[in-house]
Amino acid sequence: MKKKKKRMSIKVTLLFIVILLLMFGIYFIMKKINSNEYKLKEKGYSDKEITEICKNNSYIEYALKNNYNDKLTEFINVDGFKIEFLDSYLNYYKEHDNVPIPDIIYLVNNDINYEYSPILIELSKDKYFLKTRIERYINYQKNHSDLNIREIVKRVNSDIDYDFYTNDIESDTSLGFLMIANKHYKLSSSYVPDNLITIESKYAKYYNGQVNATVYEAYKKMYEDAKKEGLTILIQSPYRSYDTQYSIYNGYVARDGKAIADTYSARPGYSEHQTGLAIDFATPTTTGLSNDEFGTTLEFNWLVNHAHEYGFILRYKQSEEYITGYMYESWHYRYVGVDAATTIYNEGLNFEEYFTYYVLKK
Ligand SMILES: [Zn+2]
Repeated sequence: MKKKKKRMSIKVTLLFIVILLLMFGIYFIMKKINSNEYKLKEKGYSDKEITEICKNNSYIEYALKNNYNDKLTEFINVDGFKIEFLDSYLNYYKEHDNVPIPDIIYLVNNDINYEYSPILIELSKDKYFLKTRIERYINYQKNHSDLNIREIVKRVNSDIDYDFYTNDIESDTSLGFLMIANKHYKLSSSYVPDNLITIESKYAKYYNGQVNATVYEAYKKMYEDAKKEGLTILIQSPYRSYDTQYSIYNGYVARDGKAIADTYSARPGYSEHQTGLAIDFATPTTTGLSNDEFGTTLEFNWLVNHAHEYGFILRYKQSEEYITGYMYESWHYRYVGVDAATTIYNEGLNFEEYFTYYVLKK
């Protein structure tokens, strides 16, 4: 009787162990079936792909939600990959399977929709690239394949893919100190700036012209600081009305002909002097506006290094004659405000590039 009881209890124990093992077994099988690895494998992913996908929950989520994709892990491993754009990458890939995957990611991330070419990628990586000008960059590059990408973007941002005076755009004078007047943007013949103020005699080289009041204050501060270093920066020519510019320009045309006059004088409506924001500087010893004279003064040297601190920029640089369409003018400065002038100075831009990239972009 005792033996029988003992045997019974062994049986019960064994049964219990078997049930327990079975439960564990079922538990592990269920766990495996429910695991992401198992499910991904079921979808068709290889062990190597599964390792990649399992690095990130959002990758797993995507892979489980969608059918097997043999490109998924290729995309995942490229710099800049964003899971939220994956559908767009894959759609792009479907239509352009010859485009390198890093380029697809770059174009989609930056929302650049234009016919693919390796040049497009190079262009779009330029600091001053603007999506709105893609077609112009591409066209300009086609005709100037000897130029590097930086130069292409610089030129198109400066609008010189258009011939001077062919792309007349009415200048937006509401931009205030950032308004532009050049051979692409013109001012209306009736435009007269607000806030003109008459220059005091001590600052005038020959006559007491007028200039924008804020520009005048900035100039006076600059004048005083230069004075402390023994330098005297005088104003030779500030604001000029449309009519004045009309007479000046036509006088030059009569003397030198239109083609030559255009290299050093602005047509009426295209002159920065009409904005009230430009000043031609002189010194007590200079006799006219010439680079041989003003460009060799200590005042000029000082302006090269300091004008931007007061909001002025050298507007017609020697190296940028092909951009501005004007010969170098060491004396012509334009007020754009300290922030813009500092950016222009630090980044080595011309005002056309600055205007297109920083003002129009907004
Ligand atoms: Zn000038």
